[in-house]
Amino acid sequence: MAEHEWMNDIRALVGKEYGRVYAWDKVNAPMIRQWCEVMGVDAARYTAEGAVTAPPAMLQVWCMEGLTANNYPPGSTTDNPYEALKLMEAQGLASVVAVNSELSFGRDLREGERLYYTTRLDSISAEKTTALGTGYFVTLVMTFCSEQPQGDEEVGQLLFRVFKFRAANPAQPADDKASAAARASAAAKRPQPGISDDTRFFWEGARAGRLLIQRCKGCGLLRHPPGPVCSQCHSFEWDTVQASGRGTVYSFVVMHYPEVAPFDHPNPIALIALEEGTRLVSQLVGVQPGQVRIGQAVQVEFNSFDDGELVLPQFRPVAAAEGVNA
Ligand code: ZN
Repeated sequence: MAEHEWMNDIRALVGKEYGRVYAWDKVNAPMIRQWCEVMGVDAARYTAEGAVTAPPAMLQVWCMEGLTANNYPPGSTTDNPYEALKLMEAQGLASVVAVNSELSFGRDLREGERLYYTTRLDSISAEKTTALGTGYFVTLVMTFCSEQPQGDEEVGQLLFRVFKFRAANPAQPADDKASAAARASAAAKRPQPGISDDTRFFWEGARAGRLLIQRCKGCGLLRHPPGPVCSQCHSFEWDTVQASGRGTVYSFVVMHYPEVAPFDHPNPIALIALEEGTRLVSQLVGVQPGQVRIGQAVQVEFNSFDDGELVLPQFRPVAAAEGVNA
């Protein structure tokens, strides 16, 4: 296929480097400790007095802007490293989906180092058509450096690739949106879970109306999501126990947008704490999205979708009188 003429200007940007974005703070123990707590990593390994190093996976964290978008420290560039994507948008390639994110590390970062990164537009693919639509794979590489008196030192890179495209099924005009949504909803099926040898028991259990939790045969630890090995004793031997199905809402989100068929919106999704101690993500039913509360008592039920192709455990709030926290 011949290249669009408007791509010439965009391709000319390949190789362009977008200037520095500085870190607000030097590498420091409090941020490392908090990051470790959030991620479930043992902070003691990184924060010993006089030997503070940053977990490698924190690399991108140091130069993040915080809650306010594009609020970077003085001296940082105001150039938009996503310039090529903006130009594609102007040609009707309005949609974007992230494809790859690959972080690579040069060395450990030590307390007191100050980082910055630059962004290079690494490549733009030939025009491609995927199930999502037609467009281009755009690859950006962020290079992280540490300021050093004897010359700055590269400490890692982040490759970030997106697919920027014109959607195969573009959004309908507003006046047609309701009927289009109804048609899509009638045709769309629920996503099927990816079932592996590790997870088959869970879905077979659901089909039989049983909520099963994986249990380590070595030490008895319950775990979810299912996996091949016990995180506590490293045993590969496991069986299952049937959960009571009683639990509480540990956390939740209500999905408003994008509206994806066949789901109703707003769509309340909760992290359920089962009374056995494990947690699982599930859709809530029988509750107004605005009425969901953390700590609310819920009970599992098994609902069948798409002519029985799929059986899902879902959770329904139980009457306040029966509630654990009522
Ligand atoms: Zn175990």
